[in-house]
Amino acid sequence: MALKKLVAGNWKMHGVSVDLAEVRAIADASRQYPQVDVALCVPAILIERAARAVPGFAIGGQDVHSADKGAHTGCVSAHMLLDAGAVLTIVGHSERRDAQRESDSQVQAKAHAALECGLNVILCVGESLEVREAGTAVQTVVEQLDASLPHEPTEEAELAIAYEPIWAIGTGKIPTAAEIGEMHAAIRAQLEQRYGEMGSGVRILYGGSVKASNAKEIFSIADVDGALVGGASLKAEDFLPIVEAAANAG
Ligand code: PEP
Repeated sequence: MALKKLVAGNWKMHGVSVDLAEVRAIADASRQYPQVDVALCVPAILIERAARAVPGFAIGGQDVHSADKGAHTGCVSAHMLLDAGAVLTIVGHSERRDAQRESDSQVQAKAHAALECGLNVILCVGESLEVREAGTAVQTVVEQLDASLPHEPTEEAELAIAYEPIWAIGTGKIPTAAEIGEMHAAIRAQLEQRYGEMGSGVRILYGGSVKASNAKEIFSIADVDGALVGGASLKAEDFLPIVEAAANAG
């Protein structure tokens, strides 16, 4: 049975007070598509204002610390994100795995901490161009997933996976439909191996240069249960056609 699609925007380091108008526009228009879950992951400092601006709409963070509190300058805990009004967070985005040198085990600890606290998680995995060209993308991503997944799924909050080929992020390039389908099938098999029946209910999003013009095709691929969208999530006029494509994909 097809899972309800989730379309989540990742605003990265974009967004100040004036952009709350865009959050409102996206949230208001998304209500026309109750058959799709829609979320925006905004900079930490904007979470509380965004959540207050659009009650009932899912606002998320882009990272979380694995500890509940302590001497971790500049970091935020799952409890803090929830307290600010977030209902989800991204973990393991390739930009953090690269620039902040986040390891699979750190990503695993972050996902575990967030889920335990009741914060939904989008856990990102994806291969570099070198790995894709070497023909080892599926094996590499499955190993990365295996090492990043929390040991057990929780009842308290939802885990979703985002497959984001690093070479497709912000470049306008995307894998072929067959490549996306092959990777999502491998991720699904790994989730079922790890979590049994619960693994069949974990949503697998595709991310990397998703836009209005390619969303319909991407959402038609088996085991694509939504999208994580960067650049095209910043403006309602770019993001909403992607939400609409997810709604029409059923
Ligand atoms: C992302 O960084 O999560 C992403 C998918 O970016 P973009 O859509 O801009 O490629």
